[in-house]
Amino acid sequence: EMTLAGGILAAAARWPDRAAIEHASGTTSYRALADAIRRAANMARARGLEPGDRALLMAANTPAYVEIVAGLSEAGVIVVTLSHRLTVAEVAAIIDDCTPRLLLADGASEAILRAAAPGLPLVSVPGGWRALLSGASAALVAGPAETDSFAMAYTSGTTGAAKGVMLSHRSRALMFMAMAGEYGCFGPGDRFLALTPMAHGAGFAFAAAPLFYGGTCVLADSTDPAWIAERIAAPDIDGVFVVPTILSRLGGLPAGACLRGARLRTIISNAAALAQPLKEMVIERFGDGLLHETYGSTEAGIVTNIRPDELRARPGSVGTPFPLIELSLRDDAGAEVPADTPGELFVRGPYAFNGYWNRPEATAEALCDGWVTVGDVATRDAQGFVRIVDRKKDMVVSGGINVWPGEIEAVLAAVPGVREAAVVGLPDGEWGERLHAFIVGTAAPEALASAVRARLASYKVPKGFSFLDELPRNAAGKLLKRELRDHPVTTG
Ligand code: ATP
Repeated sequence: EMTLAGGILAAAARWPDRAAIEHASGTTSYRALADAIRRAANMARARGLEPGDRALLMAANTPAYVEIVAGLSEAGVIVVTLSHRLTVAEVAAIIDDCTPRLLLADGASEAILRAAAPGLPLVSVPGGWRALLSGASAALVAGPAETDSFAMAYTSGTTGAAKGVMLSHRSRALMFMAMAGEYGCFGPGDRFLALTPMAHGAGFAFAAAPLFYGGTCVLADSTDPAWIAERIAAPDIDGVFVVPTILSRLGGLPAGACLRGARLRTIISNAAALAQPLKEMVIERFGDGLLHETYGSTEAGIVTNIRPDELRARPGSVGTPFPLIELSLRDDAGAEVPADTPGELFVRGPYAFNGYWNRPEATAEALCDGWVTVGDVATRDAQGFVRIVDRKKDMVVSGGINVWPGEIEAVLAAVPGVREAAVVGLPDGEWGERLHAFIVGTAAPEALASAVRARLASYKVPKGFSFLDELPRNAAGKLLKRELRDHPVTTG
């Protein structure tokens, strides 16, 4: 069967002595990784964990993270991967929802898990984990079916209550193959820098995909721009996965700081819209011909990608569909919209999720006849290039008119002195909702308003501006519009 562990074990049989994972704690060879995965699967069986049982993992990125997810899932256990930044109350709600039989946590998260679920057995990572493995058999176990779920990531809840997104082995195996073809930096000898949390669907995929192909995953968990810049510019890195927040912070480094790695040939940005000025910053400071912008969701997997040679000619586009992906843009009545007209984006393809854990109604809404929607609204031009307009839930209704904040944010982000911009609707007695912009950077409100007025309809001009040091984002780099809506603002 096509499983996560199966893909890594096959690579280990070809390249046993290559470095699979490099981390501050040391280098793990493919042979050692395969051994740990087999032991983990046997250990799960020996401890009585049944196929379909859940284990919950709350830890920063380390080699043990890969062993836990690939090893336990080879025994049929679904590994729930939690962001290590969640609070006790958030974790308790998730534990209530997914009822795990085993908890695994690193030093930083142990206290949170113990407080959230005092009665459940807890294995500390990596110490307790290693001790468990050393006593386990390294024999091959018969793996699960490829359509079984190997993991469950919880949506960050930026748009509502957190839901467990079940992901199948098969969806990852096929997505990793498509990724390898598209990005071309996962093969033997390639070193790929993975520094976003593996608890997040995309963070996991970009850390694990090289492990099917003999590449080395250079694993970290850092948000420090100087450290990241130094790693990216290192002479032995071939590719890196980032979220726009990281690029925005790198853009703030002193102009002299060298960001061009001698071997670097691929930078992949995903998780949120990458503003055009940031794309230009990347081209100028990291070099031309490197940057891919990928669009996707935990639920649908990778949906589109725009390649470095297409970026300049198509500002604002997230490219064309990934291999094996079909798109359909629909109006509220379910009819396909014409070219260049906004419609809700439906996706069909093999990287889709298995549904939300325990939520048949939410699943029926998001997964209909094999088509996945997460409520993103997009347009497609005559050549098939896709543009994400906004999330349906972020639409603002002001004076009875529907407004998509995304296009206003793009205009604001292009004003000199602005690093980032976010627009939300605030409750308003007269308008229903009034547009308010949050700006990172320095610019006069009048200049911002007139930039919008020059390009967009007058009702799209924000009625107020607030200046922040940083926009509120979660660990995965997602903008938390909910928090912005609750942010105190002065009217004017
Ligand atoms: P929730 O549904 O709770 O908000 P989430 O935001 O964590 O969960 P993810 O699956 O991580 O959900 O994020 C997917 C969303 O991120 C997409 O639906 C889309 O709105 C946005 N997104 C991802 N990549 C891009 C991109 N390149 N451009 C614009 N938006 C993007």
